Amino acid sequence: MKAFTYLTPGSAEEAVGLLGQHGPQAQVIAGGQSLLLAMKTRTARPSALVSLAGVDDLAGVRLAASGELVVGATTTYAALSRAPLTGWHTEIAAVAGNLADRPVRTMGTIGGALCDAGPRYDMLTLVTGTGARLEVLGPSGVRTLSPGEFFAPGGGTTLAADEILAAIRFPAADAFTRVVFAKFRQRTFDAALASVLCAARPGNGGVQITVGAVRPVPVVATAADPEAVAAEVLDAAGGPPLVQYQRELVRTLTAQTLSTVNGS
Ligand SMILES: Cc1cc2nc3c(=O)[nH]c(=O)nc-3n(C[C@H](O)[C@H](O)[C@H](O)COP(=O)(O)OP(=O)(O)OC[C@H]3O[C@@H](n4cnc5c(N)ncnc54)[C@H](O)[C@@H]3O)c2cc1C
Repeated sequence: MKAFTYLTPGSAEEAVGLLGQHGPQAQVIAGGQSLLLAMKTRTARPSALVSLAGVDDLAGVRLAASGELVVGATTTYAALSRAPLTGWHTEIAAVAGNLADRPVRTMGTIGGALCDAGPRYDMLTLVTGTGARLEVLGPSGVRTLSPGEFFAPGGGTTLAADEILAAIRFPAADAFTRVVFAKFRQRTFDAALASVLCAARPGNGGVQITVGAVRPVPVVATAADPEAVAAEVLDAAGGPPLVQYQRELVRTLTAQTLSTVNGS
């Protein structure tokens, strides 16, 4: 591991300032679950690490006056899984409580997963499928992005080197009548080989189907039938053609989640 300077800001603004001062070789560290592995294998070689561990205003879960659920970027999976949530928000807690293993859930943060943007991470599918908004803090203040603006089309994010993800704003508890997430993984602590999220809107709003893990970024389907969804993802730009087993997984997970969300 290459030597680095370890910096401990006390606020989000100070963290952004330190990133600006130390230049593009500086990197934020949250729970370290992805970054430390990358540093050990030298695929990441930051000269300075800006730790978000002591930045209290970036952690925690609260309801905004609008009803949106605001999750601080450094909220760990473990904290999120224990949050007292209602309505469709309970699915957020369920997803956070059913990934990786206990040490990763204890240290890993929702913001770290989204900024690392691993295509197989569950949180990418969750924020895309529910149309969450991502609050990004930079030197000139906060900008709020849709998942389509936050994730780069070929993978990774559009964050500038001196920006941090501050919070994720999920739609209000009554925005969906039900949200169902399902994934297939080989072992319980493995990342998903395919994931599907179905979000049912009230009234005649219909069900939105989002497929994750098989493309660099999740795909929001326009089709409504499992076979057609699999075909649509198969054709999605930004990755090699899906192999047969991925197609089967997408079709089966879509059928399962649709059946659950429709209550049949
Ligand atoms: C053994 C193992 C199993 C796993 N299994 C799963 C799984 O089943 N499902 C799943 O979804 N994920 C899985 N993961 C991935 C896990 O979700 C991520 O490693 C973790 O959430 C990353 O968060 P972190 O806080 O540790 O980020 P870090 O490792 O600290 O940071 C990751 C990256 O994001 C950047 N970063 C972090 N926070 C911010 C911020 N607020 N603003 C800007 N940049 C930031 C860092 O600079 C770094 O580039 C697994 C990981 C491991 C190690």
